[in-house]
Amino acid sequence: MKEVKYAKRMMVEGGSEISDILALTAKPEVISFAGGLPAPELFPVADMKRMANEVLDEVGTVALQYSSAQGFPKFRQQIANRMNAKQKTKVAADDILVTSGSQQALEFSGKIFLDEGDVILCESPTYLGALNAFNGYGPKYIEVETDEDGMNMEALEKVLQTTDRVKMIYVIPDFQNPTGRTWPLEKRKKFVELITKYKVVALEDNPYGELRYEGEFLPSLKSFDKEGYVVYLGTFSKILCPGYRLGWVCASPEILAKYIRCKEDGDLQTSTISQLEVSRYLDECDVDAHVLEIRALYKKRRDLMLKTIEEEFPEGVKWTHPEGGLFMWVTVPESINTTEMMKKCVDNNVAYVPGVAFYPGRTKTNNFRLNYSNMDEERIVIGIKRIAEVIKNELK
Ligand code: PMP
Repeated sequence: MKEVKYAKRMMVEGGSEISDILALTAKPEVISFAGGLPAPELFPVADMKRMANEVLDEVGTVALQYSSAQGFPKFRQQIANRMNAKQKTKVAADDILVTSGSQQALEFSGKIFLDEGDVILCESPTYLGALNAFNGYGPKYIEVETDEDGMNMEALEKVLQTTDRVKMIYVIPDFQNPTGRTWPLEKRKKFVELITKYKVVALEDNPYGELRYEGEFLPSLKSFDKEGYVVYLGTFSKILCPGYRLGWVCASPEILAKYIRCKEDGDLQTSTISQLEVSRYLDECDVDAHVLEIRALYKKRRDLMLKTIEEEFPEGVKWTHPEGGLFMWVTVPESINTTEMMKKCVDNNVAYVPGVAFYPGRTKTNNFRLNYSNMDEERIVIGIKRIAEVIKNELK
């Protein structure tokens, strides 16, 4: 098989080293803070079983048939209503395309906006899965300086003034993956002002916005977008469950038409039966009450992780205090390489994601990401103590 000739886009680095490391964490004795999974004990299994039965009993032949590329009108209306209520937007069902998770919308974004060598601006660090989705299109990345409260607006404007190959800006303003950081209100307004002035499209990726544990709710970038430069990506993965693979794109008509075209070309449509079952869930069950349960459990886990870190991590180590979402971000002294340290952690049956992969330029080696949504309280304490021991040994 050595003779097989692949396309150039398959030659790009695709996080293989990270899958090698993560493979080590699959052993049951390893306490892994490396994943980003929701807590399965909260999945509404009984409700979804009822929805599945009702859908098959009442509209079984519709559920099992092909359906429209854009998604069921009623389901798109429910999504638009939820965005308007939660994200302070004023969007309509026709502004929405249902996708197979927001990950598919990231891949479509690469296809729509990027020719080889085009520039993407992003936060530094940023979501690894987005980088993997974009990489096949051969972009160049400019990592915009990122502070405790998100992307630095002066740095952003400077880049926009000096480069005209920027085709897209990718941001996660709410409880970012990997850092857990959130942009304040003024920054959101300023950002939309800047992208409108420089006429650059921005992807606002918001899987975690509803999972806030403290502080004021902040409106989405999309809510300030008068001229249609913001493309909003949403998902049911974190407020319901990821198994249905339901996400959406909300964009102005001209841009949305390109996403619909990608959908038709790529997989025709999102699963009919998934859309019908989740649409019925939104009608018959109380998704807001469900989100409250998720928030209560994750808050408890976040608080315990923060408390244990404060008690156990040695001097010289810093970490973020996420107001919501699934992740926190730890910075150790520069003498420590967290990819190297990960091997020692796995020997001690604990794991995180080394931070280097979240930087497109792979420039920083002294960070790691911790997930707290998918771990019971007892194991959070034991796991954090194990990491603390390894860090202390490294600093000796
Ligand atoms: N964007 C971000 C920032 C994420 O963290 C994730 C998944 N963890 C996704 C997009 C993709 O989510 P999904 O495809 O399940 O909607």
